[in-house]
Amino acid sequence: MNFKEYQKLAQRTSNTKHREDKLANGLMGLNGEAGEAIDILKKYYYQGHELDKDKLRNELGDVLWYIAETCVGLGTTLEDIAKGNIDKLKKRYPEGFEADKSIHRKSN
Ligand SMILES: [Mg+2]
Repeated sequence: MNFKEYQKLAQRTSNTKHREDKLANGLMGLNGEAGEAIDILKKYYYQGHELDKDKLRNELGDVLWYIAETCVGLGTTLEDIAKGNIDKLKKRYPEGFEADKSIHRKSN
């Protein structure tokens, strides 16, 4: 499945109709789901749980769904966001990650 197909299929289960609502629902939801993901790690580090990788995968999928929702709200695509991110990182780290470039980089 590619990004375009995913974004279309994810919208099948969206209950928002207007872009402004999709933007708000998307941003609120992805932060909530990211919280659910980090809670799994918290339980692993500090509460004696096994690292539940299946549950973590599930939460990452939920994060992705809300990112797709946010993209629709912004009038863009997951593919465009992914490409923009890779382009940014290629400029920032043309030879791959370098700690010195990370420490001395300007924001963004
Ligand atoms: Mg979830």
